[in-house]
Amino acid sequence: MIIVLLGPPGVGKGTQAKKLAEHLGIPQVATGDVLRAAVREGTALGLAAKTVMDRGDLVPDDVILGIMKEALASPAASRGAILDGVVRTVPQGEGLKRVLHKLGRPLDAVLMFEAPTDELVRRLSSRTVCDSCQTPYTGREPGSACQKCGGRLVRRKDDEPEAVRNRLAVYERQTAPVIDWYRRNGAPFTSIDAVGGPDEVFRRVVQALPQ
Ligand code: AMP
Repeated sequence: MIIVLLGPPGVGKGTQAKKLAEHLGIPQVATGDVLRAAVREGTALGLAAKTVMDRGDLVPDDVILGIMKEALASPAASRGAILDGVVRTVPQGEGLKRVLHKLGRPLDAVLMFEAPTDELVRRLSSRTVCDSCQTPYTGREPGSACQKCGGRLVRRKDDEPEAVRNRLAVYERQTAPVIDWYRRNGAPFTSIDAVGGPDEVFRRVVQALPQ
């Protein structure tokens, strides 16, 4: 099953993607995570992406398409994948369509997560992540210990107020048009109310899955 998760920054795509990946037994492909790992490892990809990511801008489509192709062609994704934050521009949507066509696989669902902007800003500005295992937390201070691995919680550079403002503007300008594009393309599209706790939202996700 190939499922695309769409939605603005802070809406909880990553949290829901992890739950869904576990529920369906297929991998989560999160381009943001792949890029952050490349930054930590200091690879050429990471060095090129870091400044763009810190500002909250999008990395070029060809870079994303490369990551997407490799992930979908890997044996881990033979039964499917949850694409989390992967399709952020119309050219990326077109690129994914071509890749799936070549692989002979359908797009099973596009789940669009929605929440009011003030809720997104509140979530992003109170988010910290573990600098070791990358688990995200809401409302726990930077410097405290990760409950999973004991690592140190830090604030993502792109969760600082200026980058958050830019990410929301970038979303409106470059990603929101993807919604109409998918609708026009007749994709299996469902909107999901992302206000509420992770388990409550996940129940709506499971209900929205194709039978
Ligand atoms: P995320 O973790 O999904 O919020 O992504 C963090 C950052 O990685 C984004 O603000 C972009 O700079 C970059 N990024 C992740 N996915 C994409 C994508 N599909 N297209 C362009 N840039 C991306």
